[in-house]
Amino acid sequence: MDRIFSGIQPTGDLHIGNWLGAVRNWVTLQDQFASIFCIVDLHAVTLPYEVSSLAARTRDMAIGLLAAGIDPERAILFVQSAVPEHAELEWLFTTVAPLGELERMTQFKDKTEKLESVPAGLLCYPILQAADILLYRANKVPVGEDQVQHLELTREIARRWNTAYAPEAAYFPEPQALLTPASRIKGLDGKAKMSKSLGNTIGLLESPEAIWEKLRPAATDPARVTRKDPGTPELCNIYALHQYFSPPETVSEVADKCRTAGWGCLDCKRRLADAMIGTLAPIRARATELKRAPDAVDAALAQGAERARSIARETLHEAKRRMGFFGAV
Ligand code: SF4
Repeated sequence: MDRIFSGIQPTGDLHIGNWLGAVRNWVTLQDQFASIFCIVDLHAVTLPYEVSSLAARTRDMAIGLLAAGIDPERAILFVQSAVPEHAELEWLFTTVAPLGELERMTQFKDKTEKLESVPAGLLCYPILQAADILLYRANKVPVGEDQVQHLELTREIARRWNTAYAPEAAYFPEPQALLTPASRIKGLDGKAKMSKSLGNTIGLLESPEAIWEKLRPAATDPARVTRKDPGTPELCNIYALHQYFSPPETVSEVADKCRTAGWGCLDCKRRLADAMIGTLAPIRARATELKRAPDAVDAALAQGAERARSIARETLHEAKRRMGFFGAV
């Protein structure tokens, strides 16, 4: 069976962008592949962060993932820093990772644009991603389009390492992208990708009232200045969200009433809010239960880390053996 690896940062509660763009897909994939899902806290410390909440945000992310349907019996779910082999394999890969390509990574350039002093961790971020994936010799990686460049670098690192240390065996696979169908969910501002740091999200676990409070002022087609002005649904993020949360007949009705000015944007948003609240209600209920049992969540993560480590240890040992390290040969 093919093996997949995917990671998510410990940002606390999941938002609907994470869910539609990645996690919902993971829940389906866990039945099709040997699946490894990781809360990547080592990646999260490459930019300034709040130390006092990192552990809580990590557990909250685990609660969100479990509530959304990641099943620790079917998939391995763990926290990256609980498996130190990630960092060790990353170091081995720094010896073959091409500096020029690291510096050309779009995300590296975006993240460092305004920094006076650039931490080396930001440069090495894609090497750690390569280690995350290759530590489990995963051959498929569910990614959004914005991660394709990093995955290509992972393939390059695998090729270079194999050429140097496993020319006959290609020990590390060159993983293929499994492109996530809904990889770019726009935020409530209708402009940028939905992201917690931009404050344009709806949390997966938010109350019905909070969902409505956030949807009400959300951006729409600017052509609809008054209720009488017709709009173009394809230019409106509310219409895009209807397509994920509402049944097809509602989506058609939305498009029709938008084009003919048959209702106001608030009516349209109220309908979306109701659909969203209904869809997310079971996830919210499961999360509430899990929040009451943090020890059970921690135990599931510990068990996931143990399962991950048993694969990681073996891979790292073999990598070190092939690189000729004392104690591994
Ligand atoms: S009616 Fe709905 S789809 Fe049309 S602009 Fe308003 S919110 Fe968007």
